[in-house]
Amino acid sequence: MSKKKRSRKKQKVYTVHWPVLLGLTFLLVAVVLLIVGVVRACALPAGEAYVTEETDEPIIAAPTWSPLPVDINFTKVHRTTVKVFFPDEGEIREMLLEEYILGVVAGEMPASYGLEALKAQVVAARTYTLYSIQHGGCKTNPNADICTSSSCCQTYRTEAQMHKTWGVRYTYNYSLLAKAVMDTAGEVLLYKGKVIDAMYHGASGGWTENSENVYSNAIPYLRSVESAHEIGSRQTGEVTYARATFVEKVNGARPNAHMTEENLEDQVKTLSLYPSGRVEKLQLGEDVITGKTARKIFGLDSSMFTVEVTDSEVIFHTKGFGHGVGMSQAGANGMAADGADYKAILLHYYTGVSIGVIGQY
Ligand SMILES: [Zn+2]
Repeated sequence: MSKKKRSRKKQKVYTVHWPVLLGLTFLLVAVVLLIVGVVRACALPAGEAYVTEETDEPIIAAPTWSPLPVDINFTKVHRTTVKVFFPDEGEIREMLLEEYILGVVAGEMPASYGLEALKAQVVAARTYTLYSIQHGGCKTNPNADICTSSSCCQTYRTEAQMHKTWGVRYTYNYSLLAKAVMDTAGEVLLYKGKVIDAMYHGASGGWTENSENVYSNAIPYLRSVESAHEIGSRQTGEVTYARATFVEKVNGARPNAHMTEENLEDQVKTLSLYPSGRVEKLQLGEDVITGKTARKIFGLDSSMFTVEVTDSEVIFHTKGFGHGVGMSQAGANGMAADGADYKAILLHYYTGVSIGVIGQY
């Protein structure tokens, strides 16, 4: 009797808890679904936040979907093609101009910059390319219109390189750049009806430079302008040499300097600055060089620098990155953050220009 009672009791335990277990399971599923929903809701509208990031490095929670519906049709406005020389492979590839421009912007500007800055970069890179085509093509390979070397023409990233650099952000970044290309398809910068030499650089240090202070010609649309708000990496830099190494380097590059380690403080002197703040003339021992030459000899980010001579070292403190002529990329990013559109950015950095469309000017 008692045994039966016990067993009945045991059975009762199971029958009573089944609905509870089922209920708990449903509750658990509901909670999981709720959490997933909340996480997705938080992640979906994050597009602009990614754009304002200052690094190009992949992040864990990157979106893998395409946030901007883009009709990627690079022949939408024109069918211009370009012969691009790849020095590493030693070959020339012909591709659509707009397809090439996307690869240039991927290599020349962080995809984390503001969309309007990216569009300004697209128009500048397209203009630079057209100018190259119209002026004898690439200097390294005369059979090509342009090459992928940053020291000769413009950097370019292939799709494989974009995948490697961007990782999980590839889809997002690619569609963002495709939008910048398609929204400005065919647009180029003109001065008095002619395609301009649209030079650009990483960061200006506050002021861009007149073309004749860096290159030989005074070009009317490459004037020094203020670039008050810059957002980007490598805006300041430092290059340090031990005193002995510095002296050796100077005498190696400039034998007429006759520099000595003793009284070094008296032998290094900034003689004059351009109004932009870049060094015009620098005294090195018995020699005088330009700031541009100093940049080359000492491997400086820019010719906007001060020199500090200590008991053990010579330290260059630099502002800006690059030659300083034309559009500042960090300045374009700053203007975009302040609400400027790409046209306002371009008209600010290129004096007196207008925007035209290939085949319509
Ligand atoms: Zn080239």
